[in-house]
Amino acid sequence: MSAFKQLGLSTETLQAISKLGFEEPTPIQKEAIPAALSGADVIGQAPTGTGKTAAFGLPMIERITPESSHIQGLVLVPTRELAIQVAEELNKIGEYRQVHTLPIYGGQDMARQIKLLKKGPQIVVGTPGRLMDHMRRRTIRLQNIAAVVLDEADEMLNMGFVDDIKFILSDIPKERQTLLFSASITRAVEAIAGRFMHNPIMIQATPRNITVPSTEQHYIELPERKKFDVLCNLLDLHSPEAAIVFGRTKKRVDEINQALALRGYSSGALHGDLNQNQRNAVMGQFRSGAIDVLVATDVAARGLDIETVSHVYNYDIPQDPESYVHRIGRTGRAGRKGVAITFITHRERDHLRIIEDLTKRSIIRHPVPTLTDALMGQQQVTAERVLKASEEPILAAYKSMAESLLEHQDSVTLLAAALKLLTKEPNTARVQITEDNHVPRRPKNQRASSHQRRPRRTRKPRK
Ligand code: ADP
Ligand code: MG
Repeated sequence: MSAFKQLGLSTETLQAISKLGFEEPTPIQKEAIPAALSGADVIGQAPTGTGKTAAFGLPMIERITPESSHIQGLVLVPTRELAIQVAEELNKIGEYRQVHTLPIYGGQDMARQIKLLKKGPQIVVGTPGRLMDHMRRRTIRLQNIAAVVLDEADEMLNMGFVDDIKFILSDIPKERQTLLFSASITRAVEAIAGRFMHNPIMIQATPRNITVPSTEQHYIELPERKKFDVLCNLLDLHSPEAAIVFGRTKKRVDEINQALALRGYSSGALHGDLNQNQRNAVMGQFRSGAIDVLVATDVAARGLDIETVSHVYNYDIPQDPESYVHRIGRTGRAGRKGVAITFITHRERDHLRIIEDLTKRSIIRHPVPTLTDALMGQQQVTAERVLKASEEPILAAYKSMAESLLEHQDSVTLLAAALKLLTKEPNTARVQITEDNHVPRRPKNQRASSHQRRPRRTRKPRK
């Protein structure tokens, strides 16, 4: 807490930070907060999971006049999930200063959004497409905006939002403060900054390796057709509290999800074909722990922050190294330890090396887990549950029943039988996942891949 006090924040905001449970500012926060509080334009570069939301959110909220119900702050983000997540964090930060934030994104009912905008939020967090819809319909007033944030700027530009961003920024008063946060500063990001920012202070909190340091990285080499069984064995072996499985396509994500259900796992799928209600439902279940495996495509999981994610499984190796970094950034959040395991087929070895070079971290080979390993993992879980239960008060009725059982059988046999009943034994129901013969593109050389990124997909802005 003390280190936050030195950054020049108000008592109300410090109170909100303490309620959020943050003890120390992260490196990007330590530098970006005083810079942004001074009113200067700031470019902040730091890896995924290092607290960039609060790095811009705290100073932005400090500079808002809560008594006014004009929109004074605007945050642009690449996806709807991120709009919701960022707005949630800003509302927590603004709780005691009484600064209200509204997320607006495509897929949500327009009439409802207009109604909520009329309630006078001081900050709006939106995706570019939906924000432009409101601008065209004149259902949003941008005249009083004093600060704009481009969050995940690299991602927004990668997704083809460049013209939208230019259009939006051109319509906001020039005297505003502009903040830009990004995991990477690409040429496209530099171009936007050059055109729309004034003498920005550049803050880089990027360590030499670009991955989240607390993530353990492994790979398993295996033939395509073994992937699903191996995934199940790993899930049994690790029993993760919450895991994300990344698949290459929407179709594969659906198939993996359905196959997991057949084997008795509680999983859900997240990909671009789902409507907003379906997405919200899956994310809600995952956050609450109702499902513990989320199967997702890259785009769908971008920017998600679920603190409990302990394991990331790359069922398919990602197309490019940046995606890899984004994916494994889903685990090991906020300094927690995470494990990432990537499946590769023999042909994908070179591709793995390129990722290793870029991340400057070695990815360690992991043995192929067997059914026996899986069973041992599940037995371990049961043993821990039984031990824990034995340390808590046990009803006398159970004890007397145990005594009478011991008259018929020896204690080891009895305990073994009880353990067997409590153990979720690996299920080997046959399932079919479509063979994927895709080979990832290989960047021509590694240098080119880390400095100039090819646009991955140019997408029309969503309604
Ligand atoms: P980024 O935008 O850099 O990927 P986020 O802003 O999403 O990262 O933050 C990642 C997680 O870390 C969030 O759960 C956030 O609440 C948490 N967090 C942010 N700042 C701190 C801090 N100073 N101390 C502890 N946790 C923090
Ligand atoms: Mg972020």
